[in-house]
Amino acid sequence: MAQPATKRVIGLYKNMEKSFSFQKILNNYLRQETEKRKEKKVEYFHASQLGSCKRKQIWRRMNEKETNPADDRALRIFAVGDIFHEFLQKKAEESGCLIAKEQEVINDEYNYKGRYDAFIEKDGVKLLYDFKSQHSQSFHYMQENGTGVDEGKKLQIVSYAVMGNLPVQECRLLFVSKDDLCMMEVPVKVEDYKDKVVAELKELNQFYKTKIIPEPLPEIENGRCQWQCLYCPFRDKCRGEGWEEEVKNKIKEQKKNDKNNIRKNIKPR
Ligand code: SF4
Repeated sequence: MAQPATKRVIGLYKNMEKSFSFQKILNNYLRQETEKRKEKKVEYFHASQLGSCKRKQIWRRMNEKETNPADDRALRIFAVGDIFHEFLQKKAEESGCLIAKEQEVINDEYNYKGRYDAFIEKDGVKLLYDFKSQHSQSFHYMQENGTGVDEGKKLQIVSYAVMGNLPVQECRLLFVSKDDLCMMEVPVKVEDYKDKVVAELKELNQFYKTKIIPEPLPEIENGRCQWQCLYCPFRDKCRGEGWEEEVKNKIKEQKKNDKNNIRKNIKPR
């Protein structure tokens, strides 16, 4: 039970939320900025979406209305991510190895658009960088378990080189842990991913041209709710409201059945 002093603080906080708070100002500002950006029609497939659900990519390209837009907290996280990008770009520039930053790459043949974070040259080697800031918990989990460096991120960084015809053989994903500033750098060879980038863009263009909506992803992956759907802006449109609850119950039921089957199959000695 909350102590009297704590109760007073909670009460104060609640009153503030009702009338005026910095959080409200920030949320409203970020929301307005996001709405302004969304007024612009999507006319390309975007680098940052490559490797993710194709149904989602097609709906984005078709300018479908989002049923599950990012919430206030997610918008604040994205905004702080931008600060990390600026910090890294500034330091790269000051160190004298930055060739270019935040350059837009457009390829009309593939209806592709993207913006890379930094193009760097050091000791005669040119490298293209994508900065990924994340929560320390995800960062360390990824580092210890070798997860999170998915195909999508690799396709994204290589797509800038391929679609922009840039003179670079290797790209790098630089992961930064936001609250303890640990870093991890993952090299990605252009040669290994260039065909995959082209194949994915060809497939997306074909879907768009024929107006065929791709199949949804499997709703359960590795015994868990499909994580891409949990963060998808078209989740309710695609899966229906209450999907997360339903699928979690299905997983529970499945686990119970599996346990029962194991018990049945264990014969007493
Ligand atoms: S809800 Fe899942 S399957 Fe449907 S569009 Fe989104 S990511 Fe794809």
